[in-house]
Amino acid sequence: SAKKQGRSRWCLFSKSLHQEMLDRQKLLKDLRLAVKNQELFVVYQPILDLQTQTVCKFEALVRWQHKERGLIAPDTFIPLAEESGLIIQIGDFVFKESIKQLSVWRETRHPDLIMSINTSPFQYDEAGKHLNHWYSYLEEMQVPGQAVLLEITENMLIRNTQNVSRQLLSFRDHGINVALDDFGTGYSSLAYLNELDIDIIKIDKSFIRDLDKGAASQALCEAIISMAHKLNLKVVAEGIETQEQASVLSAYRCDFGQGYLFAKPLSAYDATLFLRNSFPQ
Ligand code: C2E
Ligand code: MG
Ligand code: MG
Ligand code: MG
Repeated sequence: SAKKQGRSRWCLFSKSLHQEMLDRQKLLKDLRLAVKNQELFVVYQPILDLQTQTVCKFEALVRWQHKERGLIAPDTFIPLAEESGLIIQIGDFVFKESIKQLSVWRETRHPDLIMSINTSPFQYDEAGKHLNHWYSYLEEMQVPGQAVLLEITENMLIRNTQNVSRQLLSFRDHGINVALDDFGTGYSSLAYLNELDIDIIKIDKSFIRDLDKGAASQALCEAIISMAHKLNLKVVAEGIETQEQASVLSAYRCDFGQGYLFAKPLSAYDATLFLRNSFPQ
């Protein structure tokens, strides 16, 4: 009967919800151990100056090598880290690891290189207690604030705009630049540009992906870039996969580009080789 069917369906549904909850708990437990046991590591994706075609920055991206499940993508575990508070430790790890790597590169032939690091709004609190100790780490590594770009994801900002805004002023005092990530996907992109002290916007890859497909996304990208330049902001286009996309963006005077066309996120070792090839002796 319909009633019976409905009931068994409800059971199936609730069972899978329950399973999902158990899976999440297991994953969280694993993540906690992963942080402790150093199963996390950082990969580096080159960001090129689109005019000179040379590497000027790297974006640090976190990875998790799970013992049984293999490689787990950040889109899976970052939200979990944010809910549980583990994002503080993970954020510190990525910052220190990538700044240490940057200091090596800057000392060996690449003194102007910049590291771009993702941050979560959950790392920003009123007193800056999770972020202010980064300044002394920079000093220790002899990396100037100007060599650091901190990315903040636009569609997460709505949670914590006041603390973020306060922290951005403190970053500025230390010479650190700030990029608005995934630009165009958030709830009020333009309001943030007005409200927050931003240096760079990163056009979300969904706009770049559609560049080949038609006039609408071309007009959007062109408008975003020229608006940004009028506001004295630089622009990174992320997710560039084809030469055609790169050419169009270059014609629109987009400053920087990042994407599989140039390189996937690389191990520190491979990133070093990529750098070497980008600047032949
Ligand atoms: P994101 O910051 O927007 O990083 C760009 C994402 O696009 C990366 O995915 C990168 O691998 C991918 N990507 C780069 N070029 C291309 C391309 O040409 N085509 C396509 N389809 N994708 C491309 P990934 O590494 O999986 O990271 C996903 C997101 O996870 C990041 O998006 C960022 O929001 C978050 N994330 C990664 N590492 C960290 C971290 O250390 N801390 C925090 N808070 N978030 C992180
Ligand atoms: Mg990013
Ligand atoms: Mg992001
Ligand atoms: Mg992005």
